[in-house]
Amino acid sequence: MAFTKVAVVGGSGTMGNGIVQTVAQAGIKTYLVETNMELAEKGKARLDKSLSKLVEKGKINDDRKNEILGNIVLTDKYEDVADVDFVIEAIFENIQLKKEIFAKLDAIVKPETILASNTSALSITEIASVTKRPEKVIGFHFFNPVPLMPLVELVMGLFCSEETYLAAEKLVDQIGKKYVKAKDTPGFLVNYLQIPLLVGAVEALENGLASAEDIDKACVFGMNHPMGPLHLLDMIGLDNALDVFTVMYESTGNEKFRPRTMHRRLVQSGNWGRKTGKGFFSYEK
Ligand code: NAD
Repeated sequence: MAFTKVAVVGGSGTMGNGIVQTVAQAGIKTYLVETNMELAEKGKARLDKSLSKLVEKGKINDDRKNEILGNIVLTDKYEDVADVDFVIEAIFENIQLKKEIFAKLDAIVKPETILASNTSALSITEIASVTKRPEKVIGFHFFNPVPLMPLVELVMGLFCSEETYLAAEKLVDQIGKKYVKAKDTPGFLVNYLQIPLLVGAVEALENGLASAEDIDKACVFGMNHPMGPLHLLDMIGLDNALDVFTVMYESTGNEKFRPRTMHRRLVQSGNWGRKTGKGFFSYEK
């Protein structure tokens, strides 16, 4: 059975907006849920703009753009999504807030609805614990920018059922993405694999093994990575990356996630990467 109605909570945020576009593109009626209608309208206007760019580039035509926008329903009331098949939550990365939203959704949506979270690092098991349907709660972790990044990491909370997992796989297929199955452990799978490389790149620079340029060139031309790890860190934001590495290190005690001093000093000095104009590299503002 194909999914016909999906809700995206936090649908005007960085991730939520991309998720709304991706789901609506697949012909699914997509509810963009926000805290108020003004924010919801802003999110739709942003989607209109990015779809218009695709029209200008000749990637889609006006009819297709209108069809995608026509699949999007704006709301600031959870009651409006009571009969959706699948909810994807993409609000701020705050455990208390996510628990409140899941408890509220659990009481409103029909019993068979799957509740999913796009969290990058919070525990799916903990989020599921506030609901009466922990077997129907799953991590549905997209990557930024959502319309371009093909992967959705499906994160199994301790009590998530195989039936829920298979249904989540189906939705990923339906929206044209790829999936991996991950356990509810710190960093899930992608960050668990990627962070040691990022930390290692900073460590190599700190220890004077090579220049920042050469560390990145080694990964781009020697490992076929699309972008070097130090440029990637500058793009993610050194402040955000420091928070994530710290959480990973503190929750596992594993040295491979420990943020290095040079990283900390750059953050302390306000050099947060692209967004401040300087990180490991300098950028024109
Ligand atoms: P964001 O701050 O850009 O967006 C959050 C949105 O949620 C905002 O539009 C806000 O108005 C809305 N919101 C907040 N409370 C709400 C509520 N009660 N009801 C409805 N809407 C509400 O955040 P983001 O960067 O898109 O991150 C969202 C989630 O995705 C986080 O859990 C984050 O860890 C995860 N994530 C982020 C990235 C990234 O690169 N930014 C990548 C993968 C996963």
